[in-house]
Amino acid sequence: MSSSVALRLPSIDGLLRHPACAPLAERYGRDSLLTGLRQLLDELRPGVLSGQLAAVEIGPEVLAGRVGERLAQQQRSQVRRVFNLTGTVLHTNLGRALLPEEAIEAVQMAARYPLNLEFDLASGKRGDRDDLIEGLIRELTGAEAVTVVNNNAAAVLLTLNSLGARKEGIISRGELIEIGGAFRIPDIMARAGVRLQEVGTTNRTHARDYEAAIGPRSGLIMRVHASNYSIEGFTARVPTAELAELAHAHGLPLLEDLGSGSLLDLTRWGLPAEPTVRQALLDGADIVTFSGDKLLGGPQAGLTVGRRELIAKIKKNPLKRALRVDKLTLAALEAVLGLYRDPDRLAERLPSLRLLTRPQAEIHAQAVRLQPLLADVLGEVWQVSAVEVLGMIGSGSQPVARLPSAALCCRPQVSKRWRGRYLLNLEAALRGLPIPVLGRIGDDALWLDLRQLDDEPGWLAQLPQLQVDR
Ligand SMILES: *Cc1c(COP(=O)(O)O)cnc(C)c1O
Repeated sequence: MSSSVALRLPSIDGLLRHPACAPLAERYGRDSLLTGLRQLLDELRPGVLSGQLAAVEIGPEVLAGRVGERLAQQQRSQVRRVFNLTGTVLHTNLGRALLPEEAIEAVQMAARYPLNLEFDLASGKRGDRDDLIEGLIRELTGAEAVTVVNNNAAAVLLTLNSLGARKEGIISRGELIEIGGAFRIPDIMARAGVRLQEVGTTNRTHARDYEAAIGPRSGLIMRVHASNYSIEGFTARVPTAELAELAHAHGLPLLEDLGSGSLLDLTRWGLPAEPTVRQALLDGADIVTFSGDKLLGGPQAGLTVGRRELIAKIKKNPLKRALRVDKLTLAALEAVLGLYRDPDRLAERLPSLRLLTRPQAEIHAQAVRLQPLLADVLGEVWQVSAVEVLGMIGSGSQPVARLPSAALCCRPQVSKRWRGRYLLNLEAALRGLPIPVLGRIGDDALWLDLRQLDDEPGWLAQLPQLQVDR
């Protein structure tokens, strides 16, 4: 749109003094406002010079509105809450376990005040941060000692390096696994300075295979929980107790990387059996490593528990200092571990366990309740149904086990060639909501598994804003 009279952009000073801009200066600060206005005017200048912009498009109110939107966008946090309706409960990309209220309060306390992180209040002397949870860990697992680092990958690296550097680490070929995000046992061993001595075959490894590999250069025997895959059929694995006996007969420590590491027998809540930390130690493992934010249901952390003299050796490794956890993690971890003292109430109080054990009938009833509401918002083109589905625990816990759940299944009623586009558009629209909703596309439909839909009112409140492109 060209005009005969040459337009001029308002001056920065004029804009800053304009009443429409005053609230923005108040809200975002004068410097941010100034930067925003300069950028906007620079972008508009060519359009003004070429006569493509109309006077109303560069009025002070319009410019203030545009800068305000920009500043609001910039101020919005990059760390965003989402609805995890993927069907995977402990989703690594979505932050794994949700913390219980007790842990959230502990984190707040630790964030707000000085605390005895490395200070022994009884003696008035310097303390050790691991001591803050050692009593609980001993009680809950039977371990003699514990050390905590940033995650289980770090725990494995630190343990291998502390106990096996420049020596050979013996491990079954069936346990040379890769865990999502570039964590491969052979690579970690190499980085830890441990020479990999693989024994047996992918599907079968016997005690005699381990025994034949033991020699003067052996430093340790390692066992890794095959977290994210399962081998079925003609398989053989040496029980931990037998392997421990063999290791000890040759003066070697047995390390067991349990991965998700449950502290209690999960079958009491109807979940698949998972080896417990206590059992691994009872069977004779000298060191057990596991994550804080998988089945344990706490913050991201890697726990290394076991024999006192080995833990002491691990703690002396300078890598421990590089991998240590912060006060917020320890505060949360202690609070979560505290809940395990009362197993009867654990499923009510620990969000991950509560979500993992939500009965399918309850989730299905929720799906039936929400189905007409979503169908209404999506309109004719979409067929929405409440269906029973199978979800997953996630984070490499129980790869083959499925959690009976229920979902809202959204199918576009269009010809096959358009379905993919419709599904991607719906997926993007859900992702674009103020609290992004994340589901899963598969089998020509978009699935919203409701196992983790705790905040139903919050989810419903933003539904009217859903705008799906065709
Ligand atoms: C998940 C897992 C790890 C890595 O643990 P993070 O806490 O994610 O670092 C290591 N080993 C096993 C067996 C696992 O399942």
